[in-house]
Amino acid sequence: MSTDGLPVVAIVGRPNVGKSTLFNGLTRTRNALVADLPGVTRDRIYGRAELQARPVLLIDTGGLEAAGDDVGTGRERQTRLAVAEADLVVLLTDARAGVVPADAEIAAWLRTLDKPLVHAVNKIDGLDEDAVLAESLTLGIHPYCLISASHRRGLDHLSGVISGGLPKAAEEAEAAPVEGIHLALIGRPNTGKSTLLNRFLGEERALATPVAGTTRDPIHARVERDGQKFHLVDTAGMRRRPGSHEGIERFSTIKAMQAMERAGVVVLMMDSTEGITDQDARLAGHVVEAGRGLVLALNKWDGLGESQRKTVLIEVGERLQFARHAPVVTLSALHGSGLGELTGAVVHVHRRASTDLPTPALTRALRAAVEAHPPPGGKGGSAKLRYAHAGGLFPTRVVIHGNRTAQLPTQYRRYLINAFRRAFDLTGVAVELVLKDSD
Ligand code: GDP
Ligand code: GDP
Repeated sequence: MSTDGLPVVAIVGRPNVGKSTLFNGLTRTRNALVADLPGVTRDRIYGRAELQARPVLLIDTGGLEAAGDDVGTGRERQTRLAVAEADLVVLLTDARAGVVPADAEIAAWLRTLDKPLVHAVNKIDGLDEDAVLAESLTLGIHPYCLISASHRRGLDHLSGVISGGLPKAAEEAEAAPVEGIHLALIGRPNTGKSTLLNRFLGEERALATPVAGTTRDPIHARVERDGQKFHLVDTAGMRRRPGSHEGIERFSTIKAMQAMERAGVVVLMMDSTEGITDQDARLAGHVVEAGRGLVLALNKWDGLGESQRKTVLIEVGERLQFARHAPVVTLSALHGSGLGELTGAVVHVHRRASTDLPTPALTRALRAAVEAHPPPGGKGGSAKLRYAHAGGLFPTRVVIHGNRTAQLPTQYRRYLINAFRRAFDLTGVAVELVLKDSD
């Protein structure tokens, strides 16, 4: 068995065993900068985590009840549906409470699933590990790990066990280099994604080619517009299949996150007649966190009056502050207006996101930024920033070498990122700083 794209890992357990603490512990490590960007709405249910360098999509089933894009049908049913989507399930139990009948019930259900399982025993801080182990083993789920989520103990070990238990990643050969821009179209249900897709596929003798051995819906579709080749990612999740409405829509966040993982640029479709919702903001946060290029598309623009249009644009600025770098395009997928602007924005973001930044220019931009606003002083003097070089793309990484860089406040890091954005026109591009001390 192999997983195609981002594998899904679900955390399951009774209330209060520490599921959300573990979820936060595993998702918050990378790109902490994104998490505290002003205005970012952290998703409490779905998160991208890198477990031993393997990216996974983590689901905290404890949060599903309040899920924004899931129809409320009771936690238990939602948990079952989420677990059905998972490639691996982590059963979390509470060492302090010991094994209770509800744990045994969950364990018995999980064992019927024929999926890789991991048992994580939480809250071992201050307890006798041997005693904990003896009791926990009675649940019969292997492999197991003893952890303390709130003390961040055992998380590396758990990460290794999870990534080792996941099906192997699909062979890269399948995803042979494809010409054109890898584009994912994501958004809440009913924002107009399929309408736009049909326009793309219908117009201009565009050809939808099934790729990579799928017989039903194409996972990928190739589209050519204005001489530019686009490679639409995960269109299967976007197409409406009569009768399977529920299954597709319920876990639209999973589909969206899997699609964006394989894309260079992501178009986030929003329904401007509904304003900017929490779910829109969460999805935008996921795109930024995944390091992908972002274009914000305000669809159904035709349905708005002049003053409503102004209000929506103000809302974008306020609710999607952390995505200010992304171009905003207004369009009507239904009437076909704004499509040229949309593809233009995608092409521009892709071009900027795929450009290697040259070391001399980066260092010049760094020096100019530092000269205009020197880093604030900390213990033992202020940080010294000496030179910068490129450290990779998607996200565009800027590696800065200096001394005492750990002292740089978040605000100053953000200032530097914005300076690089301006200097290199990194519109819509995710930028990450990597700070290195020379001694
Ligand atoms: P959930 O309902 O399963 O999502 O559980 P939470 O993550 O909300 O945690 C429930 C409680 O357990 C909170 O008060 C946490 O602070 C606490 N908790 C979580 N992990 C640990 C741990 O490793 N050790 C201890 N002592 N407490 C923990
Ligand atoms: P999806 O769930 O995101 O794929 O959304 P659909 O493409 O199915 O569109 C949902 C509804 O919005 C349909 O009734 C569309 O006709 C309508 N719609 C899509 N784009 C527009 C638009 O630009 N303007 C207006 N007024 N309606 C639109």
